[in-house]
Formats: sequence, C-alpha cells, structure tokens
Amino acid sequence: MNASSVSEKCEHASNRPAPPAKNGPNSHVVPREARRRGARDALLERAPREIVNAMTVDVEDYFQVSAFDRVVSRASWGERESRVVANTRRLLDLFARFDVRATFFVLGWTAARAPELVREIAGAGHEIACHSYHHQLLYTLTPKQFREDIREAKGTLEQIVGRPVVGFRAPSYSVTTSSLWALDVLIDEGYAYDASIFPVHHDRYGIPDAARHPHVLTRPSGALVEIPASTVRLGGVNLPIAGGGYFRLLPYAWTRWGIRRVNRLEREPVVFYLHPWEIDPEQPRLSVSAPTRLRHYGGLARTASRLGRLLRDFRFDSISSALNFRPSFTM
Ligand SMILES: [Zn+2]
Repeated sequence: MNASSVSEKCEHASNRPAPPAKNGPNSHVVPREARRRGARDALLERAPREIVNAMTVDVEDYFQVSAFDRVVSRASWGERESRVVANTRRLLDLFARFDVRATFFVLGWTAARAPELVREIAGAGHEIACHSYHHQLLYTLTPKQFREDIREAKGTLEQIVGRPVVGFRAPSYSVTTSSLWALDVLIDEGYAYDASIFPVHHDRYGIPDAARHPHVLTRPSGALVEIPASTVRLGGVNLPIAGGGYFRLLPYAWTRWGIRRVNRLEREPVVFYLHPWEIDPEQPRLSVSAPTRLRHYGGLARTASRLGRLLRDFRFDSISSALNFRPSFTM
C-alpha cells in the first residue's frame, strides 16, 4: 500500500454521487466549458457536506493533562474526584443526537477503573483506540518503557471490548523528531495507525514540516498509517484549526473557515479532537500558572454548544470509517 492508495480511499470514503443537473429549457445553449465550470463550482460549494471528517476524543480526566504534570503527581490520581465518566457520557449523548460516530482514544489507566464506560462507548458504535496507559510524554520515555506502557494499555482495552485495538494517539501529540522511534514500537506492537503528529510549532509538541494529511509512513520496522492533526497552510506556515484549546479559545469562525478550506480546496478530511474535560466548566480548579490557566480553563462553558454547532455544520465519523480505513488492512 502506498500514500496514493490511502488518499484514493479517502476520496472514495468522502464522495457521494452528485445529484443530476437541472436541465432548463435553454440548457443546450450553455457552452460546454461554462457548464463544466458551473458543475465544478457547485461541487466546491457542496464539498463540506460530502467530505466525511474524523471526530476524535482523548478520554482522560481533567487532572491527567500534561500541562498539570508538575502540580499533580500520578500517585495522587486515584484520590482525586473523577469526572471523566460523566463528561464522556455527555459527549456520547451529543454524538447520538447528531448521529455521529467518533474514535475514542482511551487512557489505559482510566479504562482499568471505568471498564463499563469503555463498553458503553464501543456499544454505541464508536471506535476504541489507545491513548497510552500512564499519559507520559513519549520523548521522556525509553523505547522499552514506551513498549511496556502501550502493551499494558492495548491489553487492557482489548480485554474490555473483545476486539483488536489498532489506533494510537500519544499524550499531548508527543511524537516529535526526538521520539520517532515510537512509531517503530507501535508497528511492532500491532498498531495499524498513529494519530500523534501535529505539523506545527509548539512548546510541547509538533513536527512543523511533517506531511499534513493522512498518509502511509514507512519505518525500519514496517509501515503504518499516520493521521496528523489538522492544519491550514497560510504564508508558508501551518496553523492548527481543529480542536482542543484552538477550538475553545479562538472564535468558532476560525474552525469553520479552516475545515471548509481543507475540505473544499484540498479535498481532504479534517481530524478534529476534544477531551471530555473541555465541556466541564464545573471541574475543580488547580493552582497553575496564568498561561496554563488560560489554555486549560478558557472557554469551557461554551464548548459543548459550540461542538453541537460543529456537528451540524460538518459531517463526521470515526477515523476508521471516515478514512475508509479498516483494521483488516494489510500493509
Ligand atoms: Zn491526553
């Protein structure tokens, strides 16, 4: 399999047959080129509803985010008020209302403590994928530590849902140029796709010159499909458009414009991401620096309704379905 076959599959997944053109009484006098141009323009207009984008959720609690690593020890996780089950159920309700399926990257630690939530997610037709076990940044681990972590997480999730888990997203998109070895470990451990590369500049993650759309990555240990976080390219720079703090803190119009642009001009799907704690304005406040406070707590109260708007404006499905990518893919 190569990159072009993946994009071909994306095209097939996202295109629906166009409705028949209206034939007015004078249609025979319209020059052929003008008709073709009109059809193309109409297609571009319809593109956002034709392309199926990928909806993803990183299932973790508000105190497990990497930005809180310094103020929340892992040893204290078990003693803190957990809100992930209730918040994830709110997301499930919202997706059900709009008949949307998503990919849920579940933290192994959370799955082990709330297996009924994982079964509930899978039972509603969503895809279960892996978000590591202990939520550690990959570039702080050795390959051996990472292998042990994802083996434990994959085993935990597969035992709960009774089917193979083939997708992975690193905590805080921490596959960077210094942790590309992690892709080899993922291939070795039976993962078929990774969704951990963010092609932007950022203090904690990012490979600014990485490919921007789903593609096959070939590594010494084999190949896997890489599903990067979505960006638009403006003035030679990639800008994030689809999810997390960018969705909460920037105007909704930014996300809508960005997705339309990628869907219409590039004819590519967008990969949107969100966390259950991002729709929870009641979560306990932790004592953190002002920039972290803004990044984590900004816009929490408006995110659920904004997500509803997004689900109305665009089509979404899980990664496996949106990209017509099946666990049975052999590479
Ligand atoms: Zn995470």
